[in-house]
Amino acid sequence: MGGPLRAMSKADVMIRVGINGYGTIGKRVADAVAAQDDMQIVGVTKTSPSFGCDLAVRKGYPLFCTFDDAERIAAFGQAGYECHGGLSDMLSVCDVVIDCSPGKVGAQNLEIYRQSGVKSIFQGGEKHALTGLSYTSSANHAENLGADCTRVVSCNTTGLSRTLVPLQEHCLEAGGISVNCVMIRRAADPGDSGKGPINAIKPVLKVPSHHGPDVMTVRNDIDITSLAVAVPTTIMHVHAITVTLPQGHGLSTESILDMWKNTPRVLIMNGANTRITSTAEVMELARDIGRTWGDLHEIFVWEDGVSLQGDTLYYFQAIHQESDVIPENVDAIRALMDSESDWKASAAKTDSAIARFNGL
Ligand code: NAD
Repeated sequence: MGGPLRAMSKADVMIRVGINGYGTIGKRVADAVAAQDDMQIVGVTKTSPSFGCDLAVRKGYPLFCTFDDAERIAAFGQAGYECHGGLSDMLSVCDVVIDCSPGKVGAQNLEIYRQSGVKSIFQGGEKHALTGLSYTSSANHAENLGADCTRVVSCNTTGLSRTLVPLQEHCLEAGGISVNCVMIRRAADPGDSGKGPINAIKPVLKVPSHHGPDVMTVRNDIDITSLAVAVPTTIMHVHAITVTLPQGHGLSTESILDMWKNTPRVLIMNGANTRITSTAEVMELARDIGRTWGDLHEIFVWEDGVSLQGDTLYYFQAIHQESDVIPENVDAIRALMDSESDWKASAAKTDSAIARFNGL
């Protein structure tokens, strides 16, 4: 892991990154950024002293207060933490800020980033309209090159994009794909005690749900719709996906599996052979191979759950909601800073650096 000391020796060539909101997503993005040799963490913010500050201190990330308010900044010192100032102080040493604040809070922050002249990357809890530009590595890296701000789409949209974009690219000339998906969503993250349901299946009564159509913010030529239900689990989402392929697509179940095996950040395993038949075993696998926090950045596709029947493709995929967007944030930094124009080259760089601290 690279901390600020390693980073400071190369500061002239490193992209300086601040994390505003050091929570579930923020702490993961910070580690992934710090692992890269072309970027450094110059600060992370917390709203007030809490156990999350200990983690930032242990990792060697300079701690800032989310607000510029002197009293709130002083509270960190009173609790025994060295606080380097407020948000403006952090922005003054950043090239790009990753906004990992809770959904819908980011909008207030955008104006502050603009005034500071700092590029910004928001998360999927914000609407596309906030930035007018969204991001996943495979769908539209090129469109984001040199932009001032973007939004890394949600974990669900990122997962859909990973498997649907290569299919769409293959089928484009024949007329493109048409997609229906059912999102079976985890009720809450493992660290959340305030959300539910804990004993119910809760349909999202806004039909279609926003998840499928959100893919069109990164790839507007994919015809897609979705339904969603929340279920009492904390560990992963599952997508049940039906894709209508155009006539003359030339694909088979085997060639689709081969396509995904050659796609970055998609993991294909056979449920019957490996006995990984549910999200519980997928998460156990992530822990077994030593992934930090038990994360799985890859989208997990059950090989034996993929079937092309005529022109209709059926498959299931599982999404680790807290972590699939993490490598996308790193690639998005390179896109905004215009430091790598080829998304596959960025993904390879990101993933090999992360792999050095992240198990097998
Ligand atoms: P979180 O609640 O775990 O962390 C948010 C952090 O931001 C907390 O530390 C909070 O104290 C801090 N914060 C509060 N107000 C703030 C403000 N005004 N400015 C800056 N920081 C502030 O939330 P999270 O799960 O990390 O989600 C962050 C974003 O990522 C949201 O947009 C969310 O929709 C998106 N996202 C979450 C997941 C997931 O599964 N958790 C997956 C993909 C995307």
